[in-house]
Amino acid sequence: QERTPILSVRGLVVNYGAIKALQGVDLDVYPGEIVAVIGANGAGKSTLMNAVMGSVPRQGGKIFLDGEELPTKSYQVVTRGVAISPEGRKVFAPLTVKENLLMGAFPQKSDEQIRSDMRKIFDLFPRLEERMNQYAGTLSGGEQQMLAIGRALMARPRVLLLDEPSLGLAPIIIKEIFKELKRINEEMGLTILIVEQNARQALMLSHRAYVLQTGHMIMEGPSTELLNDPHVEEAYLGGK
Ligand code: ATP
Repeated sequence: QERTPILSVRGLVVNYGAIKALQGVDLDVYPGEIVAVIGANGAGKSTLMNAVMGSVPRQGGKIFLDGEELPTKSYQVVTRGVAISPEGRKVFAPLTVKENLLMGAFPQKSDEQIRSDMRKIFDLFPRLEERMNQYAGTLSGGEQQMLAIGRALMARPRVLLLDEPSLGLAPIIIKEIFKELKRINEEMGLTILIVEQNARQALMLSHRAYVLQTGHMIMEGPSTELLNDPHVEEAYLGGK
């Protein structure tokens, strides 16, 4: 029996004026998977994420969630079940940790749901609970990343998008965050799409991966295969 992708991107084209950032990109994410998109600086990874979220306009292609076309307005995308931890975290610096989490909860209905979701996020990232009333702008980079993930989870997404969660973080913090992402996937069954310049970490976390190069998907396969692929090794894993 054919599995149906939860998220499906077909022929996605995004231009910024004369710059062709995405030139017909296809991507499928199946329920329960962690899918990674790896690629160099400027390959178009953030553009892909932002186009799914509706925060950059697309010039061509279609994006489907559960076989239905995804709206192009960001708040509707979130309401339909896709949330993002954006590149550079973009936490609300003058708001507290708790207020940032509440900002993520807007598609939700009851206070009860909000309280129980916050409880789950504090269980995943106890540091956030300890710092509940601290201004987000004063958190460390790693804590801000945890908060950005927590804020996205507050929307109760069916698909979580992560744009370069490892950026600028110490290896030990990256390890900690990726461990929790694995837990979120395994224990909550949450589907995750992650884009990373840190190819090795992303391939070790994910089940399947794509390689994006200057606006084109050039490879796709199980992450363990890409980890052992000589071209990927040479171009993205720093060689042996
Ligand atoms: P990085 O890892 O460095 O963030 P990326 O793979 O996420 O890279 P994008 O940020 O998607 O790449 O950028 C893809 C291309 O589009 C680049 O050439 C970039 O300069 C260009 N680009 C991105 N955003 C804009 C914009 N707002 N206006 C013009 N060009 C842009």
